[in-house]
Amino acid sequence: MKITAIKTLVVNARMRNWILVKVETDQPGLYGWGEATLEWKTKGVVGSVEDLSVLLIGQDPRRVEHIWQMMHRQYFWRGGIVTMTAMSGIDQALWDIKGKEAGKPVCELLGGPVRDTLRLYDHLGGGLMEDIYLTVEPEVFGERLAVSLEKGFTAVKAMPIPVAELIESPAVIRRAVRCVEEMRKAAGDKVDIMLDLHARTTPAAAIQFGRLLSEYNLYWYEEPCWPEHVDALVEVSRALPFPIATGERLVGRWQFRELLEKRACAIVQPDVSHCGGISEARRIAAMAETYSLAVACHNPQGPVSTASSIHVGFATPNYLIQEVVRADVPWRNDILIDPLDVARGSVPPPTKPGLGIDINEAEAAKHPFEPEVTMDCFHRDGSVADW
Ligand SMILES: [Mg+2]
Repeated sequence: MKITAIKTLVVNARMRNWILVKVETDQPGLYGWGEATLEWKTKGVVGSVEDLSVLLIGQDPRRVEHIWQMMHRQYFWRGGIVTMTAMSGIDQALWDIKGKEAGKPVCELLGGPVRDTLRLYDHLGGGLMEDIYLTVEPEVFGERLAVSLEKGFTAVKAMPIPVAELIESPAVIRRAVRCVEEMRKAAGDKVDIMLDLHARTTPAAAIQFGRLLSEYNLYWYEEPCWPEHVDALVEVSRALPFPIATGERLVGRWQFRELLEKRACAIVQPDVSHCGGISEARRIAAMAETYSLAVACHNPQGPVSTASSIHVGFATPNYLIQEVVRADVPWRNDILIDPLDVARGSVPPPTKPGLGIDINEAEAAKHPFEPEVTMDCFHRDGSVADW
């Protein structure tokens, strides 16, 4: 079997362009889908897939690991976020082909399901401007959470901590605490609440917020500072009473090594569409297992990334929970031939061959590329802030 073409299909889904990668073969009707979404770098990733395809046309798509090594090592320059995202999309598509050819779901090829169900968590939003500067009322967080509970979720993630100054004032911290208080009120103690700080905070500010949040028994506290500042993550981890999660912006097992060796977090969050695909997510998870750390793949992307993450989740013993998006665009499931049901608290093991999804290309073509909305965030004095 040979790869005959590698194509990208860009689908604009409001906040991000989903980059769907299709690997075609010389076997009639046999192709695979992957996802290489990387908002604000869409054209870079599309170009990178094109660059990699030159290397891969004519290769046997079933040699997933061999092709991974080729993509990683044969172009001399190591991959950063753009190349690793392109590689991730191709890797997912190769696993899809391998599963379809074998007539088995990808999680079977990865050793078979290690659990009966996979827990999912809902995202309450927080990427929009009104959330970034936290101008929404604290009660809105409770209302959003109630909607997730109605859907059957028992775990949610929110972003109630605004774009912060290097050191924050009590008024800003107390307002964020009010938001979490509203969520806990709506949730009771049986629901797990995660906070994503998006590295909007310095380590010192993350600790300022965290100390006042300690009574709310957070499930995790995500990206409390720049992900590459591993010693700072250690500092935050040791200062606060809840588990720290990070890793969505790290690519390749080598970037995760220091995080693990320094025990800088409790939960690692590789992204199957960035870290190097299903193949690399599995390796990072195995590395984390040797440190008794949990894994929860980051996934705010489209449906192919979601499907890939679910297969990894079912085949990984130290997997904690899966992030899903259900309501970013109302037509989310329309681009799939068969909808992927993730709008509730858990999913059963996938049973269809490959990743178990197929793209309705005519529907997807109705939402062509549009430039992502520019996010420009500043501190109160006009200097550049993280958002
Ligand atoms: Mg995050």
